[in-house]
Amino acid sequence: RTLEIRLSDQSYPIHIGSQLFSRLPTLLLQQGITEDRRLMVITDNQVGKLHASTVVETLREAGYVVHLAEITAGEHSKNLLELERLIGACIVAGLDRRSVILALGGGVVGDLAGFVAASYMRGISFVQLPTTLLAHDSSVGGKVGVNHPQAKNYIGAFHQPELVVFDVDSLRTLPEREVRNGFTEVIKHGLIWDVHFVSWLETHVDSLLQLEPTHLIEAIYRGCQVKAAVVSQDEREQGIRAILNYGHTIGHALEAVSHYQHYKHGEAVAIGIAGAVRLSQKYFSLPMEIVERTEALLNSFGLPTRIDENWSMDELVQAMRRDKKARNGKLNFVLTTGLGKVELVHEISTSDVEDVLTQIWG
Ligand code: NAD
Ligand code: ZN
Repeated sequence: RTLEIRLSDQSYPIHIGSQLFSRLPTLLLQQGITEDRRLMVITDNQVGKLHASTVVETLREAGYVVHLAEITAGEHSKNLLELERLIGACIVAGLDRRSVILALGGGVVGDLAGFVAASYMRGISFVQLPTTLLAHDSSVGGKVGVNHPQAKNYIGAFHQPELVVFDVDSLRTLPEREVRNGFTEVIKHGLIWDVHFVSWLETHVDSLLQLEPTHLIEAIYRGCQVKAAVVSQDEREQGIRAILNYGHTIGHALEAVSHYQHYKHGEAVAIGIAGAVRLSQKYFSLPMEIVERTEALLNSFGLPTRIDENWSMDELVQAMRRDKKARNGKLNFVLTTGLGKVELVHEISTSDVEDVLTQIWG
């Protein structure tokens, strides 16, 4: 399936389907990326081992000049040193302003390679080839960048891809924990926007976890659709885009206090959603059934909804105050007013947050 992302000054297609990597040359040509344009595939060593040769060979056979650069898999590679090293690789490969970066991998590769494309010669074209479910989220919205040692995602830019090619067959090699982890943002997209999508997810848990292609394509398509709907209303994150942060205030704090080691992003956000729905229940007197349905949906995908370790409550609250999305150290939360509906609420009291954290502890 194909989804067209329309932005004020640009639009680009997201192709989602089976066996798409073999059609890559055709899809590139459709976007005007002709064989005379030099390509640099950036991937990580794990994805590289599994999928790079297919991609590189297909493109070379079609007549492209293709270079390949690898990073070490994992979040710790998303830093300025790697950016500099990769830009060095682009210089050595002789990339010019018409060259194209292809990001083959999960969100880490997408963010880093996208930032290489945004910075090299003040910006060249790039194409996303996502290989994780989580990357359905990062492939829409144009945010690229790296981490600072003191703060995640603090260095970056907005740089839209020319094209996204999501070959769902590539997901088959994902470790099981990464599959589950990737479903959080899919579920989140339902919870913030589309109650019908929530019900649809509830009835397709098993086939989705087994990566059954038709259902998987549908889930990714609808997830991207929600993200695109939100982002196109607020490309530079001045307002409504904040709702994408549902579950992320507590989620980011959990990632921070555990030094990004204990939880995967999707796991931390799943716990954060459980916290946010409980806070909403308190704030808007929501029926308890909405809390239960939300947690049950996350759990059915094998995602956690409880804090399982003795992190310090104070450190968690401090981390929330330092969150990039916080203003003047006040706690802002995206809260739900019913399945498929959320709003941003400013200045939530610390005691309400602590109360909810206690509810989901243990
Ligand atoms: P990731 O890129 O680190 O991938 C997770 C792991 O799976 C890695 O070890 C990787 O090597 C491996 N892997 C990837 N694809 C595979 C495949 N097909 N088969 C086998 N192994 C595979 O992590 P992620 O969860 O995809 O992304 C997380 C990153 O995305 C974070 O850095 C986050 O900040 C970023 N992100 C960005 C945005 C955005 O809008 N730009 C949105 C959400 C998340
Ligand atoms: Zn997220």
